[in-house]
Amino acid sequence: MSEAPQSPWQTAKITRIEKRTPRVTSFFFALSRPFAYRAGQHVDVRLTAPDGYQARRSYSIASAPESVTIELAIEKLDDGEVSPFFHEVAVVGDEIELRGPLGGHFVWSDSDGGPLLLVGGGSGVVPLMAMVRHRTLRKSVAPVALMFSVRVWDEVIFRDELIGLDDRRDGFDLVLTLTREAPHRPSDYSRRIDTAMVMQALARLPQPPALAFVCGSNAFVSAAAQALIDAGISADIIRTERYGV
Ligand SMILES: Cc1cc2nc3c(=O)[nH]c(=O)nc-3n(C[C@H](O)[C@H](O)[C@H](O)COP(=O)(O)OP(=O)(O)OC[C@H]3O[C@@H](n4cnc5c(N)ncnc54)[C@H](O)[C@@H]3O)c2cc1C
Repeated sequence: MSEAPQSPWQTAKITRIEKRTPRVTSFFFALSRPFAYRAGQHVDVRLTAPDGYQARRSYSIASAPESVTIELAIEKLDDGEVSPFFHEVAVVGDEIELRGPLGGHFVWSDSDGGPLLLVGGGSGVVPLMAMVRHRTLRKSVAPVALMFSVRVWDEVIFRDELIGLDDRRDGFDLVLTLTREAPHRPSDYSRRIDTAMVMQALARLPQPPALAFVCGSNAFVSAAAQALIDAGISADIIRTERYGV
């Protein structure tokens, strides 16, 4: 978990809850002390039980920095401690302790330019979504290819929004790969991300990427980052965020 003494704990009120997929729900928070953040950053959330026991977890910010509320998209792990609390207990109006913004490496602003290669596995798409939304709101022309791997079509988080952005053909290109189902769109895939798939995604960009961001579980990030390197991308431009197990 990130330590950032400059980011004090504060309370944030849940203003809206929106189911994204069967396992992922978005929670929108109004901060008591609003802070500026960059796309890709995360917050720490702290829950305290009546006996004083505390559990703390990190969650990427899905909303663009331009947004008034902070969106966290949380995947439910049935045997987890904190994510089931959000899915089963938290309701609109609840106040939660959080602090941020945290993380200074896995960030992108439109002034950083592009092209960008974004690679997400499951809920690892969350900080990449903040970057995509920021690009849209800033009317950035940076070419972006987002490779997003999930098991099945119903698990594509932010699906309608991403496909809507892809349909605009404004330099944002969405590559979905479903690892346990046939592809639903002609340009998509049905296997794990590999070197050939990365090379085809790169061919959709007008120039080689200036930066590549890879986010997901440990295993996903290791495999995907290796696929990027095998596709000829320099390790120097690859930034990774690992969600743990
Ligand atoms: C920077 C960052 C950003 C993140 N952003 C997001 C996000 O946007 N969305 C999101 O859904 N998640 C995100 N995560 C992951 C999140 O922080 C939590 O890890 C996740 O929600 C699980 O927490 P939990 O308390 O529900 O589960 P935990 O109680 O932490 O358990 C997680 C899993 O580990 C297993 N486990 C627990 N303890 C052990 C043990 N001792 N040995 C072996 N296995 C064990 C459990 O069985 C469970 O399957 C992020 C993580 C990081 C580091």
